[in-house]
Amino acid sequence: MSLRSCKIFVTGASSGIGAHLARALARRGAAVAAGARRAEALADLAAVEPRITPVKLDVTDPGSVRSGVAAAAEALGGLDGLVNNAGIAWGGRALDMAEDDWARVIDTNLSGVFRVAQAAARVMAEDGGGSIVNTASVLGFGTGTGVAAYAASKAAVVHLTRNLALEWARHGVRVNALAPGYIPTEINRGFLEGEAGQAMLKDIPMRRFGRPEDLEAPLELLLGPGGAYITGVTLPVDGGHLCRPL
Ligand code: NDP
Repeated sequence: MSLRSCKIFVTGASSGIGAHLARALARRGAAVAAGARRAEALADLAAVEPRITPVKLDVTDPGSVRSGVAAAAEALGGLDGLVNNAGIAWGGRALDMAEDDWARVIDTNLSGVFRVAQAAARVMAEDGGGSIVNTASVLGFGTGTGVAAYAASKAAVVHLTRNLALEWARHGVRVNALAPGYIPTEINRGFLEGEAGQAMLKDIPMRRFGRPEDLEAPLELLLGPGGAYITGVTLPVDGGHLCRPL
């Protein structure tokens, strides 16, 4: 039940959760292509881990997604897995939200996830199948003040995951998602380390925020052969956060 020798493309790999998971997959013996816009950060990652190949891509640009997925498949000699993780957050009251901010969140977190999944699934379907794991969020199931676009985009990722799983099973492509609870990274560290963020700890039964390493084993299950009969599922990894209404 191992990922050894698997060929896996990880998006959003220039920082935070994606960078951590790219390194963790490489340590488990996978060949990894690491995608994001910041080429320098990707080069730094590849410099310390020779099993990682950097691939520059912008998930909001269809041409960049096509060439990025093709470059990843070429560098790895095919694609067995996709960790479809690139995402952004925008925090602010919905009444004040500008049209451009709404569009940017949806374009990155929902349309970007679809674009990369479609391009990767086309490669996988040609080559006997594969496994896709999207990054959703606990906010895909719950609500929060100031996160309307983000939460809507992640709820859509949960539903997209089910629909793609239904359509692509016949091509041998499984599609699942992880729904992490709050993990301090570039996307939210300022908020989580502040007073309001710390107050949220009381809503997490396990009384701590997540760590990127909490996602490693769940990812391995969904991505690898251990999850061979699992598709269409979104697995919360949240210290019990969803046991309470968000
Ligand atoms: P980071 O900000 O550290 O990472 C986000 C990653 O996405 C970066 O590598 C960034 O790279 C990449 N990215 C953003 N926009 C684009 C784009 N247009 N094209 C390509 N890559 C892009 O945040 P996290 O690691 O926390 O977030 C990773 C994922 O986890 C996101 O989907 C987030 O929504 C999700 N998540 C995070 C939680 C948390 O508490 N941290 C909780 C639940 C879900 P670059 O800027 O170089 O392009």
